[in-house]
Amino acid sequence: MDTTRVQKLNTRTDSPDGKCVLYVMSRDQRVADNHALIAAQQKAIEHALPLAVIFCLQPKSGNRSREHFEWMLEGLREVETQLSALSIPFLMLIGDAKTTLPGLIHHTNTLAVYFDMNPLRGPRKLQKKIAEEAPYDVFVVDTHNVVPIWTVSEKQEYAARTIRTKLSKLLPQYISEPQKIQSHPHHWPGSVKSIKTLQPMIDALLEDIPSNGQTFSFKSGEVSAHDALHLFISKRLSGYAQARNDPHDDGQSGLSPYLHFGQLSRLRATLEVEYAAAQDTSLRADADVFLEELNVRSSLSDNYCYYNSHYDSLLGAPDWAQKTLAKHADDVREFDYTLKQLEDAQTHDPAWNAAQTQLVRTGKMHGYMRMYWAKKVLEWTKSPEDAHRILIRLNDFYSLDGGDPNGYVGILWSIAGLHDRPWFERPVYGTIRYMNYNGLKRKFLIDQYEKLFSE
Ligand SMILES: Cc1cc2nc3c(=O)[nH]c(=O)nc-3n(C[C@H](O)[C@H](O)[C@H](O)COP(=O)(O)OP(=O)(O)OC[C@H]3O[C@@H](n4cnc5c(N)ncnc54)[C@H](O)[C@@H]3O)c2cc1C
Repeated sequence: MDTTRVQKLNTRTDSPDGKCVLYVMSRDQRVADNHALIAAQQKAIEHALPLAVIFCLQPKSGNRSREHFEWMLEGLREVETQLSALSIPFLMLIGDAKTTLPGLIHHTNTLAVYFDMNPLRGPRKLQKKIAEEAPYDVFVVDTHNVVPIWTVSEKQEYAARTIRTKLSKLLPQYISEPQKIQSHPHHWPGSVKSIKTLQPMIDALLEDIPSNGQTFSFKSGEVSAHDALHLFISKRLSGYAQARNDPHDDGQSGLSPYLHFGQLSRLRATLEVEYAAAQDTSLRADADVFLEELNVRSSLSDNYCYYNSHYDSLLGAPDWAQKTLAKHADDVREFDYTLKQLEDAQTHDPAWNAAQTQLVRTGKMHGYMRMYWAKKVLEWTKSPEDAHRILIRLNDFYSLDGGDPNGYVGILWSIAGLHDRPWFERPVYGTIRYMNYNGLKRKFLIDQYEKLFSE
């Protein structure tokens, strides 16, 4: 395996009496195409030790709804089954990972711990704490991005064009089939509580998590993720470049929930799309547009969150954007909606209401409408700070792919100029790029989209 994917988080050497190797699965909830699991298994085999996969379930963290937790758990049950077939136990720890995880690591006398890379604050803090206290090796592996985030760039990138140049040089050497996980030769000695056994405890905890009432049309899990990828390639890759931007057309891949929970790797999606385009050259242009979104745009989001700790605040916006928003902070707002009015899709704008209804009903808003939706919240709330807070709340609570670097960046791009440039000055927005309803009418059959999601 390419060692540039792996970073060591502490300076200790292997403790000689370590009895096992652990992989703490978090952002990449899959067995296939998972370099963190591959690295952990290699280490375990090298030292003739058992290997276990740990998952820390923390239902009280973040802004996620009960339905999103349930969707994730469905995928984790599949991970547990697949790992069991490979003689690798899956151990779920319930509660605050800052206490449950060190306890388990200590109890199992670990030789090395592997984490998957997540650029967000919570997971990084946990990894740092474990690494600082550990008398064993702690590693983090970027198996979410095709090119590891630290290899693409050592600093926050300015815009898509700057990261694209760097990525395009590196991508060819990283687009290769990863190794397969083998049946683990060294038996795990301890007892393991299955998710099924823990279910009553999980149910009790989930009862305290607010529900958003969603049911999803897409099934959770690695198998469904691969099915969704193949369906996209066979039915919608052709024409994607054009169709993806039309909210009325179902032209996007629909893969973001699978990518967000790591049930599908970006590398697998890249490989399969490349194979398809190699077989049918008429797909090349559409494949390139899809791969730009999948790799350039997403890496830009990860890059931003990795290098800017203000990723979920307006303080993370570029200076020019912070200044222009401050200059227009007292501008009169034509509409001033509350969170409740917005949440209930009770605005004067039928396209906005349709987008919000699509989000609440299906757990996924169309990508083009997400930009319009966010910009209008800036226009129709008391302050940019209110708009930002409301957008994060609605996005993370209702969007199945929410709580993701792509979401934090998408929101800051829409309302605070991130990775963008100043445009013409106007009320409330200042020089932040503006969108209006007439633009939607000009570009699409927006009334058809509205009909799809009217009451
Ligand atoms: C206000 C706002 C909020 C957003 N919130 C989220 C979010 O919570 N989670 C999320 O994953 N994406 C978010 N996005 C980015 C983008 O809209 C979604 O990734 C995309 O619509 C997901 O649908 P898809 O997988 O069908 O997209 P496709 O068009 O099929 O794209 C394939 C993949 O490419 C990546 N991608 C596509 N567009 C972008 C983009 N603009 N930025 C970064 N990566 C991209 C995603 O991984 C996506 O799954 C947001 C964008 C905005 C403007």
